[in-house]
Amino acid sequence: MKVLVLGGGVVGVTSAWYLAQAGHEVTVIDRQPEAGMETSFANAGQVSPGYSAPWAGPGVPVKSVKWLMMAYRPFVFWPMPDPHLWKWLWQMLENCTTEAYDRNKGRMVRLAEYSRDVMCDLRKETGITYDDRQQGTLQVFRTQKQLDGAALDIAVLKQYQVPYEVLDREACVKAEPGLAEAAHKIVGGLRLPGDETGDAFKFTQTLAGMAAKAGVKFLYNTKIKQILSDNGRVTAVETSRGVMTADSYVLSLGSFSPALARPLGMDLPIYPVKGYSLTADITDAARAPVSTIMDETFKIGITRLGNRVRVGGTAELAGFSRRLRKPRRETLEHSVTDLFAGCCDVPGASFWTGLRPMTPDGTPIIGRTGLENLFLNTGHGTLGWTMACGSGRVLADIMSGKKPDIAYEDLNVFRYDLS
Ligand SMILES: Cc1cc2nc3c(=O)[nH]c(=O)nc-3n(C[C@H](O)[C@H](O)[C@H](O)COP(=O)(O)OP(=O)(O)OC[C@H]3O[C@@H](n4cnc5c(N)ncnc54)[C@H](O)[C@@H]3O)c2cc1C
Repeated sequence: MKVLVLGGGVVGVTSAWYLAQAGHEVTVIDRQPEAGMETSFANAGQVSPGYSAPWAGPGVPVKSVKWLMMAYRPFVFWPMPDPHLWKWLWQMLENCTTEAYDRNKGRMVRLAEYSRDVMCDLRKETGITYDDRQQGTLQVFRTQKQLDGAALDIAVLKQYQVPYEVLDREACVKAEPGLAEAAHKIVGGLRLPGDETGDAFKFTQTLAGMAAKAGVKFLYNTKIKQILSDNGRVTAVETSRGVMTADSYVLSLGSFSPALARPLGMDLPIYPVKGYSLTADITDAARAPVSTIMDETFKIGITRLGNRVRVGGTAELAGFSRRLRKPRRETLEHSVTDLFAGCCDVPGASFWTGLRPMTPDGTPIIGRTGLENLFLNTGHGTLGWTMACGSGRVLADIMSGKKPDIAYEDLNVFRYDLS
């Protein structure tokens, strides 16, 4: 089968890889000159099934008001007269119940755990490297209230048999010796030994190279203008290089997926949630993190990527703006210097922003649509790096008529009312 994959981020590239492995003739289209140049470029680097959780949860509406008022705020909101934003916020609110949180977290953990295993197989089969480490992640709590609040997550971890360790201060320092000087600032942590870390951009570029060798065509610098349909099927894609056709189409345009789906009558509930990262060279390895530390207070991930440290976080609702805002840099700088002072060249760090393609329930949208030959693999929000391999594999199985290894029906778009 001839397949056009729309989008060459980590999700589009993993989709292309697994579709090609299943024997399909695949072409990837992207407007950028290379793979992984947008949201997959400089994320926080966590491959974190254990930390997979929706942002919408009980108590979050109240907490968000508190976050908005913090000096180093993890959440920033620029109210705009955009009906898509308000509809999406309303849908987020509807997902803030305990029942919805449990359901959504269950879906996310299932896919993320599977994805980590698929990624592990990929490493074994191909030898792919991407500054990867398999040393777990550690969520550090600065207050007893935060530590107590982890009970809800722990209950779901237990339910899905995800290994975890609740650590006291000393054990946190044992796991992450770079925290020694900041030990008095934390009360404990939740360690997820099955989690991994790695550079999503290196991975995406390397996998795209391997896919090209395996016969996948990559059409870069090619803008997708619209998807044409007739009689319940996609008939072609209009691009800046002309009209292209295939037997089937995969929509993996991250935050830009809804704009292309809307004219087809599909109002995908995906909204861009802007995040920022810093990437700094390590200057003192003994003070640097060994793996990923999640600073729960500021919702910031601090990750070791080879001889660099990546600091990523902030949820900002600012539409599609990619303006680099200084206060957001200061928040990232504060978290890393507060916990790992002197570990890296913070003033010389590169500053980046990306738009997380976020669904209201935190779960990506994978699978069939109302159009017979259009498939979705999009809406991965905060966890697209974690879930990319598993999502690509599930999608390729669905498109190849093979039963995926995990339950997948509740991942598709039909869980939403799209009218
Ligand atoms: C600050 C930050 C930290 C993060 N940290 C983590 C983390 O630690 N772990 C984790 O799992 N996830 C993390 N994420 C989320 C993760 O990075 C995303 O979920 C993931 O990159 C989304 O991948 P994607 O392929 O769907 O989107 P993208 O990478 O954005 O790919 C979409 C592609 O579509 C192309 N495109 C769009 N419109 C068009 C068009 N009209 N024509 C042609 N091409 C088009 C773009 O060029 C782009 O290459 C983080 C995100 C941010 C912003």
